[in-house]
Amino acid sequence: MASPARSPGEPVVLTVEDGVAVICIDHPPVNALSQAVRAGLLAALGQAQADPSVRAVVLHCAGRTFIAGADVTEMNLPPQPPLLPEVTLAIENSPKPVVAALHGTALGGGFEVALAAHWRIAEAGAKVGLPEVLLGLLPGAGGTQRLPRLVGIARALEMITAGKPIDATAALEAGAVDQVEHGGPEALRTAAIVAARRLAEGTLPVRRTGQLPVTPVEESVFENARVNAAKARHPLPAPVQCIAAVEAAQRLPLQEGLQRERELFVALRASPQSAALRHVFLAEREVAKVPGLPADTPTRDVHRVAVIGAGTMGSGIAMCFANAGIEVALLDADAAGLARGMQTIRRLYAASVARGSLAEDEAARRIARIAPAAPPGEEAALGQADLLIEAAFEDIDVKRSVFQRMEACAKPGAILATNTSYLDIARIASFTKRPQDVVGMHFFSPAHVMRLLENVRTRETADDVLATVMKLGRTLGKVAVMVGGADGFVGNRMLATRTREAFFLLEEGALPAKVDHALVEFGFPMGPFAMADLAGLDIGWRNRKARAHLRRPGVRDCDLLDQVCALGRFGQKSGAGWYRYGADGRTPLPDPLITQLIEAHSKTAGIERRAIPDEDIVERCLLAMINEGARILGEGVASRASDIDMVWVHGYGFPAWRGGPMYYANQLGVPQVLARIRALEARFGADFWTPAPLLESLAQSGAGFYPAA
Ligand code: NAD
Repeated sequence: MASPARSPGEPVVLTVEDGVAVICIDHPPVNALSQAVRAGLLAALGQAQADPSVRAVVLHCAGRTFIAGADVTEMNLPPQPPLLPEVTLAIENSPKPVVAALHGTALGGGFEVALAAHWRIAEAGAKVGLPEVLLGLLPGAGGTQRLPRLVGIARALEMITAGKPIDATAALEAGAVDQVEHGGPEALRTAAIVAARRLAEGTLPVRRTGQLPVTPVEESVFENARVNAAKARHPLPAPVQCIAAVEAAQRLPLQEGLQRERELFVALRASPQSAALRHVFLAEREVAKVPGLPADTPTRDVHRVAVIGAGTMGSGIAMCFANAGIEVALLDADAAGLARGMQTIRRLYAASVARGSLAEDEAARRIARIAPAAPPGEEAALGQADLLIEAAFEDIDVKRSVFQRMEACAKPGAILATNTSYLDIARIASFTKRPQDVVGMHFFSPAHVMRLLENVRTRETADDVLATVMKLGRTLGKVAVMVGGADGFVGNRMLATRTREAFFLLEEGALPAKVDHALVEFGFPMGPFAMADLAGLDIGWRNRKARAHLRRPGVRDCDLLDQVCALGRFGQKSGAGWYRYGADGRTPLPDPLITQLIEAHSKTAGIERRAIPDEDIVERCLLAMINEGARILGEGVASRASDIDMVWVHGYGFPAWRGGPMYYANQLGVPQVLARIRALEARFGADFWTPAPLLESLAQSGAGFYPAA
């Protein structure tokens, strides 16, 4: 018989069923361990102890998952008792045996709760893991002490330092769970109740994880782990402290180990890297909420997509949809271009199969979802699509002709999207009679890899179109950011300012390798010149030529890109660009020819070359971006500073442990940023360094882009 003991609406509900207390956590969306959940759990556990009819306890969750982790929003607040270690200890010490029934993703604090229980049953599709390291933390509620007691030191080290979840079968093999249950939530719950009874009867052994012995390993196991952690280009404190905590499990008795874990956790939580990573984690969730677009805005169904233009971007975009199980037709004005696009797609899938990251049959299914459409089948493909994405040449006349064709062929209600990098989407929309259906979907290269999707709205784009493209972003596994404006939207508009400064630095005295080195040291995976060589210099060159009419007379301009491209050096694809390339064609090597060209250029321009320290390079590049970011925010082209951070972290490799450019600016302090920009304005003139009005007003009011941490 079930007896509800707490009122509905509370996050933790206890019912008693034939001597088993079933504690259900119901705290959507992911049952995160907020203060209310922790308090509710502790209270329910106390109630189960106090009820003489209860012989054992089952812990499970409603909704799509077991506890998916801590409540990250609480981490910047003063401690909110009860703390999780207190809860896990209460579970482990419960005189009545506790069974944890896991489904969905039992991660972080959620898995720590499970580790403290006396029996763990996982649903076959469940995943378990301790990903705290990815937030610059370590598991702080006993995870580093209990997991080694179940799976051994080496496996625990691997799971805790990499933070990668494992599936139920692997968890069973490793000893992280005791039983795997097939057959859905009801079957899981029933199996958990059966196990709880058996533990109470003594037909299953009650194991208290903390009391299990740790099998010691050689010192070299920890040493190797430390050596591996130090190999990262920018070693962060968390992996090393994770190792130290696991080492404590071997060296210290449980209570002291738990204490050591707590100290290390508290120190990491206070580290700037963890604060930045938590900012990114929360911003990734915030970005899905578009101000002014209610969460219940209807969306349009998208079952079939047509991609027009099968070049670099079009072929990658087609793969994104095929990967998500959506049928795509791929079109190109040029039959050879279409064939090349399909060939690229097959080659990329074959490479994934060869690497072992994709099963052969799955690759075949994905390829089969991409149908090349050549005349006369093109019209039908365009007419059947619910979403048409244009990825043709970056030329307004080409966009006009493609959108006029879309207008003629697309069914009513179809969404007409463009992947343009810079062009005015409102203007593109005006080529049709349905501007409400037109939107930007700006993918980043390589489109099937990069997580960023800038969805670009115009004043006329319908709300249900906006809601649909945001939802599609999630379907494709992207971080979708809603932006507005033209001229590069958010990402490329800020990038243009960094590129400008990078060129100016070359003519003032730096060389490409020097600029790249400074930015890689800052944390970017690649510097701007190596990056340009990889993407192809002709892209930037074409864009520079197309925008030549926008150049203001008398305003500083650096034409080094023209000079390099005029030599037929287009980057890796032509064998040389800002760098020359060795035998592998991929390792950039400084090229004396480029050095000479740059030095001669400085001379002609009358600029005396000087040694430029790394800090100056980073400052110039970063402050130019931040100033532009502040303008973008002030103009409402991005709705939140955190959206700009998402664009840069997920589209341009801004180091997540620095939080993104606007977060970084906030850490520097807005008044300091403004003072430095004013100093650059005094030195280089107002053409590029006039401070953004928003920076001025924030500095005046004493506010920042974010509240102080
Ligand atoms: P690309 O030159 O590799 O491919 C363009 C393809 O479009 C070619 O195959 C061409 O034959 C085809 N095409 C041209 N006119 C057409 C027409 N009227 N109808 C149908 N097909 C036509 O170019 P890309 O790099 O893939 O860029 C495509 C678009 O994506 C551009 O607007 C570009 O600005 C944008 N973009 C590019 C990148 C990038 O890094 N390459 C990143 C984001 C956005």
